[in-house]
Amino acid sequence: METIISSTNFSNVEAQELVDRQRRYFMTNVTKKLDFRRRQLQRLRDLIEQYEDDIMQAVFTDLHKHEFEAYAAEVSFVRKDLDKAIANLGKWAHPVNVGTPLFHFKASSYIQSEPYGSVLVIAPWNYPFQLLFAPIVGAIAAGNTVIAKPSELAPATSKICAKIINEHFEPQYLHIVEGAVAETQALLEQKFDYIFFTGSTNVGKIIYQAAARHLTPVTLELGGKSPCIIDYDTHLKYTAKRLVWGKFANAGQTCIAPDYLLVDRRIKAQLVEKIKSYITHFYGENPQDSSSYGRIINEQHLQRLASYLSGGNIVHGGHVDVKDKFIAPTVLDNVDLNSPLMQEEIFGPLLPIVEYDDLREAIDFIKQRPKPLALYMFSKDGQKIQRVLQETSAGGVTINDTLMHIANSELPFGGVGNSGIGAYHGKHSFDLFSHKKAVLHRSFLIEESIRYAPYGKVSRKWLKRLMDWTL
Ligand code: NAD
Repeated sequence: METIISSTNFSNVEAQELVDRQRRYFMTNVTKKLDFRRRQLQRLRDLIEQYEDDIMQAVFTDLHKHEFEAYAAEVSFVRKDLDKAIANLGKWAHPVNVGTPLFHFKASSYIQSEPYGSVLVIAPWNYPFQLLFAPIVGAIAAGNTVIAKPSELAPATSKICAKIINEHFEPQYLHIVEGAVAETQALLEQKFDYIFFTGSTNVGKIIYQAAARHLTPVTLELGGKSPCIIDYDTHLKYTAKRLVWGKFANAGQTCIAPDYLLVDRRIKAQLVEKIKSYITHFYGENPQDSSSYGRIINEQHLQRLASYLSGGNIVHGGHVDVKDKFIAPTVLDNVDLNSPLMQEEIFGPLLPIVEYDDLREAIDFIKQRPKPLALYMFSKDGQKIQRVLQETSAGGVTINDTLMHIANSELPFGGVGNSGIGAYHGKHSFDLFSHKKAVLHRSFLIEESIRYAPYGKVSRKWLKRLMDWTL
């Protein structure tokens, strides 16, 4: 059975009513109060705890996600963000004083964070709980109302998310709209104050266009091919281990999974042997029997991935079971750079290997392609690491590991160029969902007259001095 939510007949009229209700509610200023925000965040935290088993079961149903991965990357991830927001909200929301030039004397200047208003969150299916709720946490912390649309391709998670929110929050404040393209388009017809989208680069362009019609600011968390450079001078064993973990977690369906390897030719053979041995170590001789290994989200994606297998020589894995939506962890060598395997984002458990003789080639390879969401480098050579950091651009980087930069909420998470616009997590989420209002507060104590007309005759020299001194 295909796992897609059927149309919910959510119409443009209903979308408009919902957005209007949220706008009216926002106008009451209730959502701006810090106490209110804290209470809602705490409520969400309690609900996630209450529904923890159902959430874990739902992501297992949708993606065969092992309890460890489901807890670490979905539930705990959101809970940590909630804890941080609850503990730090007062500090984050406090106006930030900045300097004031003498010219304005007597005055004070500060930056005040204010919520945008009604926010739309659109999520993908690969981490269907985390990627829906993490932006919701930021939007609530910042004092917005939220309408969120989970992915129709993860229907069990979509259902539990809708239950958690729609049965416990008022729709004028926080509401989940389940559905697919039609429902999203009905929402996109409306004027939101902010749109937060996570998904593919192609759909990201559609969202950007829809937002432009209303001049709505956006965050686009997109995808693409994230490269991984493996230098000659590395710790081969740990490199292979950390690589296999990051590539094949969630069956490769991770936006920041290393998409392909750029390997120094001299260590390729050894590395491949170690990668193979860790695949077997993690998932056994038959990964289809492993409870730690995921499944492809649906048959369409499975067929897409299966068609990529002809893009290189399979040196490990390659087994496909359509009925079970299974593709074995697969390593490919001698890849055709013009094939879909190397032209499209893989987003599945296929690991192509490209060799290089000189680091220059690897850097150029990356620079000739769209800016990636993530870039990885394994090396013990600090100079080479700095060279790669200086010469390439990417949304985020982990050195000597994979995926891990996402697990530090002090770091902003987002893309650059084709991989996205804007970044979130922790305080960065609060900032992203807050307009930074500039406030200059003058006093009536002193009234200078120089700026007022009529200006009369001015000495340019004197004016220059005055401006240099006071501004
Ligand atoms: P997708 O772009 O197909 O869908 C994302 C959302 O957009 C879904 O909710 C879907 O219903 C909606 N949508 C799809 N087509 C639409 C249309 N024509 N009009 C309006 N809405 C539409 O992405 P996906 O397949 O769910 O997710 C996979 C992609 O997301 C990959 O490219 C991956 O790299 C990327 N991704 C990025 C991040 C990140 O944080 N940057 C995280 C996860 C996934």
